[in-house]
Amino acid sequence: MTELLNKCRADAEAHALAEHPREAVGLVIASRGKPRYVPCRNQSEELDHFILHPEDYAAAEDEGDIVAVVHSHPDASPEPSLHDIASHAASRMAWWIVGLRDGVATWHEMSAAGEMPLEGRVFVHGAIDCYTLIRDYYRQARGIHLLDFYRQDDWWHKGGNLYLENFEKAGFVATYTPRNGDVVLMAIGSPTPCHGAIWLDGDVLLHHLYGRLSCREVYGAAYRERTTHFLTYRG
Ligand SMILES: [Zn+2]
Repeated sequence: MTELLNKCRADAEAHALAEHPREAVGLVIASRGKPRYVPCRNQSEELDHFILHPEDYAAAEDEGDIVAVVHSHPDASPEPSLHDIASHAASRMAWWIVGLRDGVATWHEMSAAGEMPLEGRVFVHGAIDCYTLIRDYYRQARGIHLLDFYRQDDWWHKGGNLYLENFEKAGFVATYTPRNGDVVLMAIGSPTPCHGAIWLDGDVLLHHLYGRLSCREVYGAAYRERTTHFLTYRG
C-alpha cells in the first residue's frame, strides 16, 4: 500500500518535472482500493496557478474513487498558497502539493476537510482500520455510536479473537442472511474472523482491508468463502 502511494508520488514528481516551469496537476484515484496517479491537463494560462481540466476530472472519476488532488509548485516550497488553502477547504478533498527545487521534491499533504470519507482511507492499524470504518458507517449512516476496542497490531496472529469476543458487547447478534448495513465477518489470512465489512444492498461490501484503501466492491466468491458470520445490530 505504502509502495503504491509512493509510486503515485514518484509519478507525480516526474509529471511535475515534465511540466516545469508550469504547475502540473493530477489526481490520485483508486479502483478496488488500489491507488494510482493520473496526470491531468492544466488549463491555466498563468504560471503559478492551475485549473484542472474538467474533462480529465470526469474521466478519472469514471475510473475510480478520487483520493487526492495533486499539483506542483515549480521552484518553490510545497507550502499551500492562500488560494490553495481556500480551494482545498471548498473541495472537501485531500490535496497533495509537491514543491520542486533544484530537482528535489518535497511534499505537503492536506487531508479532506471535515469528517473522513468512508472510501479511500489509508489503513493504519488500530486507528484507521476495518473496525474504524464500521464505527464511522454506523455513526454517519445510522446515528449509532459503537463501542471502541483497543487493538494491537496483528492481533489475529497472536491468538486474539476480537470480533468474536466483542460483537455481543457492541450490540450485535448473529443472523443467517445479511440486510443493508449488517456486518460480515471474514477470516482472511487467519484462522479467526479478523476482518469486518458492511454489507450493502446490491450485494456490495464497504470495507477496509489491511494494505488497501477502504472501498466498496462486489461481495464475490473469494469473500463468501471466507465469511464466518453475519451480524445485525440490536442495540
Ligand atoms: Zn499551489
